Amino acid sequence: MTPKLSLSHFLKLFLILLFFIDTAHADYMEVTLLGTGTPKPSIDRFGPSTLIEANGRYFIFDSGRGLSIRLQQAGVALSKVENIFLTHLHSDHISGLSDLWLTSWIWQRQHPLRLTGPVGTLALSQHLELAHQADLLYRTKNTNLNSDFFPILAKEIVSEGIIYQHDGIKITAFLVNHYPVEPAYGYRIDSGEQSIVISGDTTFSKNLIKYAKGADLLIHEVAAANSELLAGNSRLQKVISYHTTPEQAAQIFSATEPKAAVFNHVLLFGINERAVLDATRESFNGDVRMGYDLMKIGVGDELIFY
Ligand SMILES: [Zn+2]
Ligand SMILES: [Zn+2]
Repeated sequence: MTPKLSLSHFLKLFLILLFFIDTAHADYMEVTLLGTGTPKPSIDRFGPSTLIEANGRYFIFDSGRGLSIRLQQAGVALSKVENIFLTHLHSDHISGLSDLWLTSWIWQRQHPLRLTGPVGTLALSQHLELAHQADLLYRTKNTNLNSDFFPILAKEIVSEGIIYQHDGIKITAFLVNHYPVEPAYGYRIDSGEQSIVISGDTTFSKNLIKYAKGADLLIHEVAAANSELLAGNSRLQKVISYHTTPEQAAQIFSATEPKAAVFNHVLLFGINERAVLDATRESFNGDVRMGYDLMKIGVGDELIFY
């Protein structure tokens, strides 16, 4: 005899199902590498910028060249972006900021744009607003754009620690080593059981290892040069010295043991990507991949690359 399912049983089952769907959704994050490049103008690798979608919110880490175009390509309305976090104030990490800020305003952003970053972020936002005063006047005079949403709400990080905690999403800023650029931060993003770490620009950093331990996904910068180019080129040697070589990256990944490591901010001189991955894999056996613009990674119980 088939047991009959009463309406109340059915409702209970439905609610249990909803609970599991909701719980799974709360932890899940989706990463889109918007730009994986450097100051070098490149059609393949736009300036550094990473989008993380969590719990219906859109968080952007660094705002490099072409950010707005990549967002559009990723199918994300610019007006949805509420929060941008800067790792440091090198121009390649902020050159796409004005575009996103103003273009999202033109496209009816209905909330202020929040900008969080190291000391200097406040001055940056004030000076950008001054630089674009004429545009504010033109557009508010002739259109119905809301001038309340023009100012950037800037906040400076004064020490490492939690800088955002809302709706189950926690963002922690930690210091990295991009000397002489001080301070420079990396970010750890936690949602339930899942976690993502973004290195920002840094050379080997013990502090990054401390904060990245146990993260599901580690998005890390990399730099490498052909040894012949490097020899006798003190300028290039200096540039490489405040970034992370593949050999250093292998040490970092071995110490932090992420489910997967993905390279971004790919800064290469006379050396190809294959050689960078090979050099990393010489002393790291885990999952390491070369990131590319518009690469998507689902971060749930498993990592899904697509
Ligand atoms: Zn950079
Ligand atoms: Zn930098």
